[in-house]
Amino acid sequence: MDDKVALEEHYESPDFPASGSHEFTRPDYFAEVQRRLREVDQRVEDMDRNGIGITILSLTQPGIEGATDPREAVDLARRMNDHAAERLVARHPDRLRAFAAVPPQDPERAAEGLERAVRDLGFVGALVNGYTNIGDENTARYLDHPETAPFWQQVDELRVPVYLHPRIPLPNQQRIYQGYDGLLGSAWGFGVETATHAMRLMLSGLFDRCPGLTVILGHLGEGLPFTLPRTEHRLRHQRPETHGSHQKPPTYYLRNNFFLTTSGVFRSQTLLNTLLEVGADHILFSVDYPYESMDELAPWFDECPISENDRVKIGRADAQRLFHLDRR
Ligand code: ZN
Repeated sequence: MDDKVALEEHYESPDFPASGSHEFTRPDYFAEVQRRLREVDQRVEDMDRNGIGITILSLTQPGIEGATDPREAVDLARRMNDHAAERLVARHPDRLRAFAAVPPQDPERAAEGLERAVRDLGFVGALVNGYTNIGDENTARYLDHPETAPFWQQVDELRVPVYLHPRIPLPNQQRIYQGYDGLLGSAWGFGVETATHAMRLMLSGLFDRCPGLTVILGHLGEGLPFTLPRTEHRLRHQRPETHGSHQKPPTYYLRNNFFLTTSGVFRSQTLLNTLLEVGADHILFSVDYPYESMDELAPWFDECPISENDRVKIGRADAQRLFHLDRR
């Protein structure tokens, strides 16, 4: 399929090694990932070969969210957005777009930074890498916290999506992975961390206060299409004050306020389950480049057993509508 749009596709600037430490990752694999994070020409060649028309770039995890000094976070986010606009998107303006990096450590500045990125740089939304460090490496704030309200107000006003991307669990919450460090990242911990964060957003009432908000999750929803119905079923029996102030069932938000991408998942069974839970209007093609290969994910998607109508929606039409890709 031609002209696919891919939107969990990462970059890194040599000025800021945003990808952090990868002690549990094979060095030969990560060296190649890092090389590809820092360039765009080979990326566009891969897009050509795999029928991907547009890629939406984002700063790789843990990125800005891992900075413990809020002032540094504000400065880094601005510098990374300028880098993405001037050095990456400007090299291939017909093929590349970008999500803003924001500093959630300072929600007012995050709101201003997002507005600048969308209005002045033409960015299509924001990507947030999980929890935000506040002051030290073991203190986190999640996006359901009331202090993040100025950021969400700006998101709501601009009508742009926020991609909620994984990062590994807080260092003092890794006991269950001891002896199995390979599970900390994308193999497992990413999904658990992000699914739980997304659940916090749903239960917090955020989408009742701002029903027009759109949050994007990768990896076909981080397991939520499979697990959320059971969560909802069991929450009926929990005391109401123990699961937030949401007005609607969690699956309602998953179907209405979330879009789920195919990043890193090329498994037809999983896609079919996701289609049954949320429908083709809320699923978007993505790769998770350069951690994943376009040469693996795109051929699977082009041939997977779904209708051609759904393939067009997931492959490009939903993204064109969500990001107004006809405008520039
Ligand atoms: Zn990713």
